[in-house]
Amino acid sequence: RLHNMVQELKGNIRVFCRVRPVLPSDAEEEANMVFPDQRDNKEIVLSSTSESATGQERREVYNFGFDRVFEPKATQAEVFEEISQLAQSCTDGYNVCIFAYGQTGSGKSFTMEGGPTEDTAGMIPRAVDQVFRVTEEMKSKGWEYTMEGQFLEIYNETINDLLGAHDFDKKKHEIKHDPKTGATRVTDINVIQLESASQVRALLAVAQRRRSVAATMVNERSSRSHSVFTLRIRGVNVAGGPDGEQRCEGSLNLVDLAGSERLNVSFANGADKERVKETQSINKSLSALGDVIAALGEKGAAGPGAETKHIPYRNSKLTYLLQNSLSGNSKTLMFLNLSPLAAHLNESLTSLRFATKVN
Ligand code: ADP
Repeated sequence: RLHNMVQELKGNIRVFCRVRPVLPSDAEEEANMVFPDQRDNKEIVLSSTSESATGQERREVYNFGFDRVFEPKATQAEVFEEISQLAQSCTDGYNVCIFAYGQTGSGKSFTMEGGPTEDTAGMIPRAVDQVFRVTEEMKSKGWEYTMEGQFLEIYNETINDLLGAHDFDKKKHEIKHDPKTGATRVTDINVIQLESASQVRALLAVAQRRRSVAATMVNERSSRSHSVFTLRIRGVNVAGGPDGEQRCEGSLNLVDLAGSERLNVSFANGADKERVKETQSINKSLSALGDVIAALGEKGAAGPGAETKHIPYRNSKLTYLLQNSLSGNSKTLMFLNLSPLAAHLNESLTSLRFATKVN
C-alpha cells in the first residue's frame, strides 16, 4: 500500500518535518530505526514489517510529502536557516505563527527552545536574535521599532502567565479581541518591553523554570500544555514613504504544542478526573488547530472570493488567542516532530496524517 501525498504549497502555510536522532536512552530501540529513506528533502518514507498469519513477512510502506524534511543529523542552525526569512517577515508587518506538533519526546521543545549552548539554541532564541539584528540594521534606513513580548501557557483551556508572579493559576486571564484595530490582548498578563536579545533569553529562562516547577507539581505538565511566546513589533519611519511617515505592525508567535499522543480517556476511568479533562482539552485544541489551519489552506487555495468561508477559531483557547495571527496577513509554519523509533511508528503515522490534513 502506497500513500502518496502530493504536496502543494497552499497560501501561506508550510509544513516541515523533523526527525530527532536516536538518543543514548533509546539504545535498545536503535536496531528498529524507521525512516530508511527520504527524497529531495521533501518526502519521508516509513516502513513497518510484520509477520502475516502464514508466517510470511509483510512490509508496509508509507510516503508523506512535506515542504521540507530534516533528518536526525540536521543542526539547529540548518533548521533555522530554512525558517529565518519567515520569522523575519514580522518586521515587514506580517503575523507569523510557528508551531511544533508531535508526540511527547519527539523533539518539540528541543526545536523551539533548544538546549543551553549556542549550538543547541532553538528557534525561539534564534528568531529573537534575528529580529533584533534586522531592526538594528533598519535603523540606518530611518526605521525605529518598539517590541513587546508575552509568554503564556494554555493548560486545560486555562491561560497561565509564564512571566507572571509565582502564583500559578491564581489569576483568571481572558482573551480580548479589538475588532477595530485587530489587536488581541490577554487580560492581566505581563507584557514586557523587549530591549535586547539577551534580555529575551533571560525571560525565556524564567518561563522555562516556571514551567518545570509546575511540572513537578502536576506530573509532566509541560507536555500537556501549549506554550505560546508572542513578540509584537511596531515600526515607524518618520520620512519613509513618498507621503511621509510609514508604519508597520507585525507579530511572531512561537508555539510549543502539547504532546499529540492519543491519551486513552477510558484508561483513566473516572478515578482520575484531572487526567480525563486534560486529555479532552488537548485533543480538542489540537483538532481545533488542525481545523483552522486546514480551513485557512482551503481558503488560500480557493483564492479571491473565498473570504466568507467560516474559520472555526472559537473552538479552542489556542485558536481564539491566535485568531488574528492565523488570518489575513499571516504566515504559518508547522514543524511536525517525529521520533525515529519503530516503537513509536503508530504515533508517527497519526502525526503524519494530521500534518497532511493541515497541508
Ligand atoms: P518534546 O518537547 O517533544 O516532548 P523534547 O524536545 O523534550 O521532546 O525531546 C526529547 C529528548 O530528545 C530531549 O532529551 C531532547 O534533548 C532530545 N532531542 C530532541 N531533538 C533532538 C535533536 N534534534 N538533537 C539532539 N537531541 C534531541
